[in-house]
Amino acid sequence: MKRIAILGATGSIGSSTLDLVEAAPERFEITALTAATNVEKLAADAKRTRAKLAVIADERRLDELRAALAGADIEAAAGEGALCQAATSADLVIAAIVGTAGLGPVMAAVRAGKTIGLANKEALVSAGALMLEEAHRTGAVLLPIDSEHNAIFQCLAGQDCDRVSRLILTASGGPFRTFTAEQMARVTPSQAVAHPNWSMGAKISVDSATMMNKGLELIEAHHLFALPESRIDILVHPQSVIHSLVEYADGSMLAQLGSPDMRVPIGHILAYPQRMATGARRLDLLEVARLDFEAPDPVRFPALRLAREALRRGGSAPLVLNAANEIAVEAFLGGSIHFPAIAGLVEEMLTIMDRPLPSTIPDVLALDAEARDESRRLLERFAA
Ligand code: NAD
Ligand code: MG
Repeated sequence: MKRIAILGATGSIGSSTLDLVEAAPERFEITALTAATNVEKLAADAKRTRAKLAVIADERRLDELRAALAGADIEAAAGEGALCQAATSADLVIAAIVGTAGLGPVMAAVRAGKTIGLANKEALVSAGALMLEEAHRTGAVLLPIDSEHNAIFQCLAGQDCDRVSRLILTASGGPFRTFTAEQMARVTPSQAVAHPNWSMGAKISVDSATMMNKGLELIEAHHLFALPESRIDILVHPQSVIHSLVEYADGSMLAQLGSPDMRVPIGHILAYPQRMATGARRLDLLEVARLDFEAPDPVRFPALRLAREALRRGGSAPLVLNAANEIAVEAFLGGSIHFPAIAGLVEEMLTIMDRPLPSTIPDVLALDAEARDESRRLLERFAA
C-alpha cells in the first residue's frame, strides 16, 4: 500500500490523481486531501476515499468543513500549517496546488524527506535552488508530473545527465499558435482558456496561450535535470503526441509518446517504479499519421525570451517573473488587462526588481509577496 496525500485535490491534476487512486484501491490509500475554498467537493472526496485528514486553505471555512464532515472519522483542519501537515502525512505527496501558494507545503514535504510528485511548477521556479539544496540534505525526491519533464525523466531511465547533450521540450503552441500579433491583441479570456489538446486549470491554460508555461517549464527542467539554459531547447509540436525528447552525446534521441492525457504522467509517478493502467486512450499512430514541428516565434510569444533571460540572470529573477505572471494572468482573466499586457507586465517587473534570492523560505515568500504588490501597482499602467 502506498500512502498518498494530494495537495490541490479539487483541481484538474488533483481530480485526475483521485480518479487513478480510486481505480486501484488495492495499491493506494489516501492520507490527506487539500483544497483552497471548495468545501463541498473536498468533503465529498474525503468521505468517498476515507482520507484521514481534509484541509481547507481558507481558514474562514473551517466550520463549514467540520459540518460537512460531521459523522465521518476524518480530521478537518485549515490554514497554512494544516497544509504543511497534509504535505508530510504520506509516502508520496502529489503537489498540485497552483502557483507559489504551494511553495510552503511543498517545502514542508521536502524538509520531511518525502517523495514528491511535482505538478506545482511555480514552487520550483520561485525557489528551485533552495528546494534542491534542502532535498539534497533530507533525501527528499522530486518526481516530475508535468508531462514534458515526466517524458524526459522516462527517457533518462535513471541515466545521469552527464551523457545528455540537450533536452528538447515540446510545446503545443497553445490556442493562438497561428494567430497574428493583431489578432492576439484582441483575444478574450474564454479564447485563451480553450486549449486545443489539453484540459487544464484556468491559470496554466492562459500560460499555455502566452507560452509562459513553456518558459516556466524551461526553468523547471533546469532545476530538475541540472542542465544550463543553453542546453534546453523548445520545439513547437502542435499534435502534443511527443511529450519531450532527450538527445545523448552519441547523437541518439529518445522521445516519449502518448495521448495528451495527464493521467499518463500522473499514473507513471503514482506507480513508480512500477506501472499501472490509467484508462488513457491508446495512441494510434496511424490515426495521428503525421507529426509536425515548428520553431517557436519569439516575437508573438515574448514570454519565452523573458523566461530564458530570467534563468540566465538567476537570483530572484525567476521568482519575479513568476509572481508578475500570476498577477497578470489573474488580471487578464478578470478582464482588466489585454492579453499582450501579460508579458508586458512581466518584462517591466524584471527591469524594476533585481535582487538576490533569499536564503530562507519565509524570506522567499516575503519577496514573492512584495513582487506581487509591485505587480498589482503596475497593473494600472497596463489597464485595458
Ligand atoms: P487547478 O486550478 O485546476 O487546481 C488548483 C488546485 O490548487 C485546486 O485544488 C485549488 O483548490 C488549489 N489551490 C488554489 N489556490 C490555492 C491556495 N491559495 N492555497 C491552497 N490551495 C490552492 O490547477 P491545475 O490545472 O490542476 O494545476 C495545478 C498545478 O499543476 C499548476 O502548478 C499547474 O501548472 C500544474 N500542471 C497542471 C497540468 C494540467 O494538465 N492541469 C499539467 C502540468 C502541470
Ligand atoms: Mg507541461
